[in-house]
Amino acid sequence: MNSSFTCDLNPGRIVFGAGSVERLGEELQRLGVERPLLLSTQQQKPDLERLAAGLGSRCAGLFTEAAMHTPVSVTQRALLAYDATGADGVVAFGGGSTIGLGKAIAWRNDARQLVIATTYAGSEVTPILGQTEDGVKTTVRDPRILPEVVIYDPALTLGLPVAMSVTSGLNAMAHAVEALYAKDRNPIASLQAVEGVRALHEALPRIVQRPDDLVARGQALMGSWLCGTVLGSVGMSLHHKLCHTLGGSFDLPHAETHAVMLPYSTSYNAIAAAQELKPLTTMFGDDLGQGLREFALNLKAPSSLQALGFKQADVERAAELAVRNPYWNPRPVEREAVLALLRRAWAGEPPIT
Ligand code: NAD
Repeated sequence: MNSSFTCDLNPGRIVFGAGSVERLGEELQRLGVERPLLLSTQQQKPDLERLAAGLGSRCAGLFTEAAMHTPVSVTQRALLAYDATGADGVVAFGGGSTIGLGKAIAWRNDARQLVIATTYAGSEVTPILGQTEDGVKTTVRDPRILPEVVIYDPALTLGLPVAMSVTSGLNAMAHAVEALYAKDRNPIASLQAVEGVRALHEALPRIVQRPDDLVARGQALMGSWLCGTVLGSVGMSLHHKLCHTLGGSFDLPHAETHAVMLPYSTSYNAIAAAQELKPLTTMFGDDLGQGLREFALNLKAPSSLQALGFKQADVERAAELAVRNPYWNPRPVEREAVLALLRRAWAGEPPIT
């Protein structure tokens, strides 16, 4: 472990617990937001309407067009709605797509943000915004992007379908695995990362067995908070670069891609980062990549890029793009080795350390 370090601890306020969504009104008041614009996807519109009814006349309006990868065109329409309704802040209700829209608004007009997180992706506790324009995905990091308040209410995740709960939870785990070997890792982030993985390792099998297990849902949300926190505080490596490439350039689904790739990227780094990853072996065994694969298979997560619709003919180009401007990584990022990793991931073959 590094004996001297610098770390940025994200200063957001967290309101955690079953039923905590009932505190929306008082939290908005505390934040100084009098007329929030409420945001969601189309799919979560009915939930948003219930939330709006609870706020009554304090609600400035609803905008329900949030979409994956935060298209700038959607943000522009949301900004028009923000101004037209006289809003003075946003409430993002949903997963990374809706939270991304709230961040995109705040990055442009410094609106205060309250997030009610309903997946395990972890975006709500990072100062990072990924957005797309003309098919190009870019990432910005800015203190204005970090939401001021996050409400984690496990009861709101009871309806998150099991398959999405699993892939979203594995997405969160991937943040923590990469945080452990990050170049700028620090003791606090590493503790958070291990505890985040531990919480999800316990909770996800229980959610698969009983999706309405509120205690397991709470544990998963706690894990996702910890994993999101480390995503926001230390740098990511090869795994995130690969998923960014597969999602951004080949339009693969976000959480599912993370779920498929995690065993392969972990195996790639397992020897170079053996010491940093050691705390995870108590959960997944000494062959970490294989242990993660078995864990995901038992949860019936997608296990190959092929199953996500990725074409074999695109494997070489993906390897090419992923090694271009590589992130820092504990093991050198070499084209041939990355190509071999992607070939195995495409076919769903066991990862090789
Ligand atoms: P998502 O937000 O796209 O949600 C997927 C679908 O599930 C949507 O239709 C949504 O409405 C629905 N949904 C969400 N919660 C639900 C619930 N409790 N019950 C029923 N349906 C629900 O998925 P995601 O994986 O959370 O987010 C992915 C996006 O987030 C990607 O664009 C990714 O790049 C971004 N992301 C960003 C960061 C960051 O720090 N910037 C971190 C993680 C993810």
